[in-house]
Amino acid sequence: MPEAAAPAAAPAAAPPSPSPSQVAAARWRNPWRALPRVRAAVQGAYLAFLLLVGWQFARFADQVAGDGPITAARPPAVEAFLPIAALLGLRRWLATGQWDEVHPAGLVILLAALGVSLLARKGFCSWVCPVGTLSRAVEWVGRRTLWRRRWPAVPRWLDWPLSGLKYLLLAFFVLTVFSSMPAAAVTQFVRGPYNLAADAKMLELFRSPSATFLAVLGGLVAGSLLVKHLWCRWLCPYGALLGVASLLSPLSVRRDPEACHDCRACTRACPAEIQVHTKLRVLSTECTGCLSCVAACTSPDCLSVTRKGAAGLSPWLLPALVVGGLLAAWAVAAATGFWQTGVSAETFRWAYRIIGIGG
Ligand code: SF4
Ligand code: SF4
Ligand code: SF4
Repeated sequence: MPEAAAPAAAPAAAPPSPSPSQVAAARWRNPWRALPRVRAAVQGAYLAFLLLVGWQFARFADQVAGDGPITAARPPAVEAFLPIAALLGLRRWLATGQWDEVHPAGLVILLAALGVSLLARKGFCSWVCPVGTLSRAVEWVGRRTLWRRRWPAVPRWLDWPLSGLKYLLLAFFVLTVFSSMPAAAVTQFVRGPYNLAADAKMLELFRSPSATFLAVLGGLVAGSLLVKHLWCRWLCPYGALLGVASLLSPLSVRRDPEACHDCRACTRACPAEIQVHTKLRVLSTECTGCLSCVAACTSPDCLSVTRKGAAGLSPWLLPALVVGGLLAAWAVAAATGFWQTGVSAETFRWAYRIIGIGG
């Protein structure tokens, strides 16, 4: 017996036609997608340079700590690791007009970082700072292990007060250096053995770390696997200072709400967990100018880098200002004698002896 014919299926409803903006977005290839790779290359190059500086400084410090002749040169860039000494040098320079002869490069780096923040937000953090680079590396590990699907955002009610901690630390350092210490005491400290040997002390800390240091470091790394960029977002006073300076920056990321289709790829890409998809302009002190949001955007001409009241600029301008500004500061300082320390190797040896390094 022939089977009864199945009733004909109702014709499926035709899918709605995509809007012109959806068609354009589907065909669009983000022209700024190379930004994160170039940023990683710049960060990697600077990290490699600092490792070389660390190795050169270790040779110098070993010779100073010994009794033999000192033939190794002390690399001035090692002073990038001495932000407190740079703050003291800034205080002394403002109070007396005398440039720091002990750690001059540290002061140049601090002023250059502030200068590029006035122009290009906290680009120093995302394009240069080695701690920011390591923090990004931990984020990368977190994405590939714990948070394959989606990194959970810290609730705003918790993130906001914890982000304030770094400003409290900044206020503590600024008040201590600028109001609690008279100018004469600052000059005395700057020329004293503890300041002279501060970089050698830091080297010792990494070469022979104490259990406390390892526990704090391990805690920060573990915490950064749970909270994106924990140190930079909540605790770093240097980043807080650059964030305050960045408020004057004319450049910012701008979103065109007409072109935005609320996919939130920008917000997911943001290391500072800024809700980029809700902003017209990103003016937050937490924005590091990394441009991950611009590189991740899925809609043509939706996110751009702009100057207030001006049309979109090339996003490459921001890293060009950061890297170019820092290189220009180094070149001018090196050419005018504001980069190399004026302290002799024998005076460093005297300072090392006093604080118990070598001998
Ligand atoms: S917040 Fe501090 S540690 Fe982090 S990248 Fe900026 S300066 Fe470096
Ligand atoms: S808003 Fe954009 S540029 Fe700013 S930190 Fe977030 S991803 Fe980077
Ligand atoms: S701005 Fe953000 S939410 Fe809007 S289209 Fe671009 S990535 Fe998507």
